[in-house]
Amino acid sequence: MTSTTVFFRDDDVGRMTPALRDVIELLVEEGVPCSYQVVPAFLDAEAARALCEIQVRHPALVHLNQHGHRHEQMLGAERVYSEFAGGRPLAEQLAEIAAGRRRLEELLGPAFDPTLFTPPCHKYDDATIQALEATGFQWLSAGVKTDPFSQIYYGIGARLGRVGFLGKRVSYHGGRVAGSALSELSVCIDVDEDKDAAGERIEKDDARLWQEFERCRRRLAIVGVMLHHACCDRPEKLAWLRAFVRRLKADPGVEILSMPVIAGRLSGERLRAAS
Ligand SMILES: [Zn+2]
Repeated sequence: MTSTTVFFRDDDVGRMTPALRDVIELLVEEGVPCSYQVVPAFLDAEAARALCEIQVRHPALVHLNQHGHRHEQMLGAERVYSEFAGGRPLAEQLAEIAAGRRRLEELLGPAFDPTLFTPPCHKYDDATIQALEATGFQWLSAGVKTDPFSQIYYGIGARLGRVGFLGKRVSYHGGRVAGSALSELSVCIDVDEDKDAAGERIEKDDARLWQEFERCRRRLAIVGVMLHHACCDRPEKLAWLRAFVRRLKADPGVEILSMPVIAGRLSGERLRAAS
């Protein structure tokens, strides 16, 4: 069986809530690395201290990255959760990203991994890519879809060398984003999604997560799993997550790695291919 690499990413980290503690504890207990995406404007000093302590105790399992700056913006008269949608000027995007980075450097110190950035709601454009490069990021994490339409769309977008077109984002998951030095490592499973494509309410238990994983692994060599710890608000959600993690660990064709380790391997492969 060909092997599949799996990574975990947890979004919207700010305050040290019981749900965040539960998710970190579960993954640490299971020995599963996770990249926690911290929203600079949500992070307070108390949570920063707690995260630094956990990171120092489990440096291979806990990675702290930047997730936007404020996780909101005004689009026209509407306040939305995205931050870099709607064609914001480069100077504005640069100022937000740099301010967020400074805040994480100050509050998290060496526990902060400043190489990877996750744009809120996976929304970004050419200006975001330029701002991320100018600020010193090397990796971008967003979403990748595995349905045939999206795969064809990404193929066309890549041939045109576009970050996005026709109002959608082109994913370069596992490779370099067109026209930039930035590489992309994106997620394809949203553990806490509560509606299906038809808008019907769903609950992703471990069996359903496994089905989704089986679909993703047929298309992708690297499968990213996205969590939102705030949604882990019931014991059964944690039980499903633990069961899913254990099933991944028990599968001989699965290797769970941290995002930095995968990034290092991909960079190494690219260097070898270039030499
Ligand atoms: Zn978010």
